[in-house]
Amino acid sequence: MQADLVIRNEKLVTAEAVIEADLAVVDGKLAAFGNGLNAKQVWDAQGCLVLPGGVDVHVHPQMRYGSQTTADTWYSASRAAACGGTTTLIDFVEPRPAQSLIEALDERLDLIRPQAYVDFSLHMTLNSAAEDVLGEIPPIIERGVTSFKMYTTYAGFALSDESLLAALEAIQRAGGLALVHAENDAILQWRLNKLRDAGTTAPRHYPLSRPPDCESEAVHRTILLAHQTGTPLYLVHLTTAASIREVEYARSQGWQVFGETCPHYLVLDDSRYASPNPLDVIAAVCAPPLRSRSDQSALWHALETGSLQSIGSDHCAFSLYRQKATGLENFVDCPPGLPGIEARLSLIYTYGVCSGKISLNRWVDLCCTQPARLFGLFPQKGTLQVGSDADLVIFDPHLTLKLTSHVDGASYCLHEEVDYTPYEGLEVSGWPATVFLRGKPIVHRRQPIQPYTLGRFLPRQPHLVL
Ligand SMILES: [Zn+2]
Repeated sequence: MQADLVIRNEKLVTAEAVIEADLAVVDGKLAAFGNGLNAKQVWDAQGCLVLPGGVDVHVHPQMRYGSQTTADTWYSASRAAACGGTTTLIDFVEPRPAQSLIEALDERLDLIRPQAYVDFSLHMTLNSAAEDVLGEIPPIIERGVTSFKMYTTYAGFALSDESLLAALEAIQRAGGLALVHAENDAILQWRLNKLRDAGTTAPRHYPLSRPPDCESEAVHRTILLAHQTGTPLYLVHLTTAASIREVEYARSQGWQVFGETCPHYLVLDDSRYASPNPLDVIAAVCAPPLRSRSDQSALWHALETGSLQSIGSDHCAFSLYRQKATGLENFVDCPPGLPGIEARLSLIYTYGVCSGKISLNRWVDLCCTQPARLFGLFPQKGTLQVGSDADLVIFDPHLTLKLTSHVDGASYCLHEEVDYTPYEGLEVSGWPATVFLRGKPIVHRRQPIQPYTLGRFLPRQPHLVL
């Protein structure tokens, strides 16, 4: 067999194994593993790790937020994702009030298609459980959008328990998966009012508005609501030991409940809010907030044991100086969210694998394989199997890089189109040297090299492959 591409001299890392073998690509798909394979083009991986392209199922590039939009474009965010070794993104469709879901989906596809540097899929946001909205769930699933995001807080998005139940039931009937952002809206509003009345609204008071209970109560309630309707549930951005216990209980009962956390909750902690510089504090405002070191240890432990199944970046890139700084007087005015689409693989490698908290295989499982499985993209994405898309990351484990958001000869300048990174000055071990999307190199020597946008929309199947 004459392949299009052979990669030699590497260690292949999957969720199950580490194997020393060459791999061959034909027509953008993995075609063979072995030794002595021939091809028109041969790449020497020079002893690096080769893993399946990262799958990040929680990103918000070019997202509207009230009257604002995040600082990046879909193009810049997806290019940054590629540089960090992520070749599949799942973004969110957010319909405007009273807009039909199908129309909102078409608008989002029109916006993304010409800008997608990597492959992508979409979740649909449900900001209402009105009958006509829920009636659109089956046709949305037919279009390949099989997961539905709901919120228990945020004006314009929050669903009551009654609405959540109605939506969960409709999702279950149509064979979909529910994603929920779980925080108790009443606790949050009550605390915000108290802080406002006391005049304690400086950035450093932000975490007081969203204590751990605010999250774990809503996680508990959402799990039980999803249990009533038998709907598979994926809880986004879990941050506390108490939330993990809720997920563990549900899973011990055999319920289809899955938990995600994010790199910033694993690498950063609430000591950021004690910084004497309010700009540093505002730069760390995300929802839920960064938590204590003990919650952080619980998250790592849950990733290792399998109580949490997925790591998404929740990339949300507001400009620090232009957008987040509006919250310097009153944190309520700071749009929450942190950029992080690029460093996810490397941060988890550095803080998880190199520090002995998780294995190499678990790293690939959490960042590539499980997200692909849970969202119906497996085995096309997230693994190295004959027939899978040849989305490949040649990851150099020997590199040491210092991260920065601005050009500085000595450090690695992230490609995220935003004026800061919460990881400024942080040293990471290991970084993707070369990245392939369906057999085509899109990143080489840590720089994007593809002049065209090759990303395609990935329609998904309604059944879960677990
Ligand atoms: Zn999010």
